[in-house]
Amino acid sequence: MEKIKMSTPLVEMDGDEMTRILWKMIKEELLEPYIELNTEYYDLGLVHRNETNDQVTIDSANATKKYGVAVKCATITPNQARMGEYNLKEMWKSPNGTIRAALDGTVFRTPIIVKGIEPCVKNWKKPITLARHAYGDVYKNTEMKVPAGKAELVFTDENGNETRKLIHEFKGDGIIQGMHNTNESITSFARSCFNYALSTKQDLWFSTKDTISKLYDHTFKDIFQDLYDKEYKEKFQQENITYFYTLIDDAVARVMKSEGGFIWACKNYDGDVMSDMVSSAFGSLAMMTSVLVSPSGVYEYEAAHGTVQRHYYKHLKGEETSTNSVATIFAWTGALNKRGELDGNLDLQEFAKMLEQATIQTIESGKMTKDLALITSLENVTVLNSQDFIKAIKNSLENLLAQ
Ligand code: NAP
Ligand code: MG
Repeated sequence: MEKIKMSTPLVEMDGDEMTRILWKMIKEELLEPYIELNTEYYDLGLVHRNETNDQVTIDSANATKKYGVAVKCATITPNQARMGEYNLKEMWKSPNGTIRAALDGTVFRTPIIVKGIEPCVKNWKKPITLARHAYGDVYKNTEMKVPAGKAELVFTDENGNETRKLIHEFKGDGIIQGMHNTNESITSFARSCFNYALSTKQDLWFSTKDTISKLYDHTFKDIFQDLYDKEYKEKFQQENITYFYTLIDDAVARVMKSEGGFIWACKNYDGDVMSDMVSSAFGSLAMMTSVLVSPSGVYEYEAAHGTVQRHYYKHLKGEETSTNSVATIFAWTGALNKRGELDGNLDLQEFAKMLEQATIQTIESGKMTKDLALITSLENVTVLNSQDFIKAIKNSLENLLAQ
């Protein structure tokens, strides 16, 4: 078979530890034999980030803006322990944070559903994609512990005019908190959500507590609605999808009873909490993909999990690992499919879909990694090591390609 060609490059961001090992295996076994991979390679491994004073992360984000599509391996976010382990010059920032800020993007997380790994919520038949607004609110708050006295909200405009509102007259000890968001950030969030709904042809749900927070949360609701009416309504109608706003309480109740198959956009805190609930209910972090979508329509695909450090240390000791590569494979297929879509490269899109199918078929046939074997309802399961699982997927892929 002739290898599939790619006219435009894809930005490839390599990473750390066990996922870096999987990355290489995936490329060698599942991609390079079939595709003339055209990638612009950035090594975001911590060693190279440290060597370049993290410039490589900024360069990779700029390349993503240029080419429109990136695929990223999990990377270490340095902490005190890593400073020593890697002899770092500085405690470099989270690459995901840097890239998200550069692209002004929103992260969408979607579970990969296979037969035999059933969600805890039995009526969930299709994936629920969660979008979290990743700016402001309680994550950029100012807090105080106070004694008895008067707490006020004070705003000073650019001309020095003050506006005051009473928060509370304290009779004894208490706590206060100030937080903010910007219309610009909320608009970018809304735009990314509408774009991603169109791109994946799924309904979009959005929920806040606007009945209680009549100015703060209501502004989120209004910005979404205005943008929808002005720019997205017709496009949604053409794709036969809907935008649906409801109160957060009602959304939670409806989500539990739904069969899935939609995108749920949440404010920062709601998204933080709900994404953990949704992902654990679907089974495994190793089966969760993540895509960063910018308001201008740039896409960066990755696995939702980290570098699987514990497995990497076993691997370094020469012990066998059974690390699940599914989310990383789906990061590649997501990116290849999007590249194909943007370039009108049907062969590439078809290959991406086939590789996803091969991955799902492999698990459904009972061949899987240990994390899945522990939670599957399938019987007669074969637990494979990291390498053999990828080889088993290659086998399924060869069968599909031969058909
Ligand atoms: P993690 O890498 O997600 O792994 C936590 C645990 O979850 C693992 O020890 C393993 O459990 C299980 N697990 C996760 N992915 C798995 C997979 N593909 N296959 C099988 N089991 C899997 O989180 P972490 O250990 O807390 O973080 C390690 C490093 O990753 C940190 O340096 C952190 O900064 C980084 N991180 C990066 C990203 C990113 O780049 N997007 C995201 C999160 C964390 P068992 O050990 O029980 O088998
Ligand atoms: Mg959380």
